[in-house]
Amino acid sequence: MTDRFPTVTVIHHPLVQHKLTLLRDKATSTAAFRQIAREMGLLMCYEVTRDLPLHDVDIETPLERTRAPQLAGKKLCFVPILRAGNGILDGMLDAVPGARVGHIGLYRDPKTLAPVQYYLKLPEDIRDRLAIVVDPMLATGHSAAAAVSLLKQAGASQIRLVCLIAAPEGLAVFTAEHPDVPLFTAAIDRCLDEHSYIRPGLGDAGDRLYGTK
Ligand code: URA
Repeated sequence: MTDRFPTVTVIHHPLVQHKLTLLRDKATSTAAFRQIAREMGLLMCYEVTRDLPLHDVDIETPLERTRAPQLAGKKLCFVPILRAGNGILDGMLDAVPGARVGHIGLYRDPKTLAPVQYYLKLPEDIRDRLAIVVDPMLATGHSAAAAVSLLKQAGASQIRLVCLIAAPEGLAVFTAEHPDVPLFTAAIDRCLDEHSYIRPGLGDAGDRLYGTK
């Protein structure tokens, strides 16, 4: 938790911080960036699911019957925001292979700069699942806020957001719009620049993942 943003958790784990530095480094190749983003997905997933409820079930070990804990409730649902969210998704699925996956596609209207939905596919029973939205760069915060609004319209009531780097401007927008949604990030950077890039940041996460620039 941070003093300014009580719903925000910064993940200070040394492995997360080390890998984030590798992602920030412009000398990191596309292949390495993709692999490290996946590893970050796994580690971030570990933190965001830390308090999931468990219930005991009866099982038989090779030696005896016992009761042992198991995740309670319906399987959770990861919801990457296209396209950069997909780079984190694979690692999250490494941690929770049985999770469901929804997708949200948003683009920014060039005139109004408002996020516009072009794709939305969610499990029908999303209202019964914990939805974990994945958006690597929380820059202005408008896309993530719009994605969470879409999930709420679809009936989801348990929602969390995971990003790699957040700008203070984006955190202010997102937490004002969705004070009920816990947010997990590996870093809060200095600011947005005039092109809405996060500084120091890591550049365009989609381009770095897919080598499109
Ligand atoms: N999206 C990115 O990929 N990078 C930024 O710095 C801001 C938004």
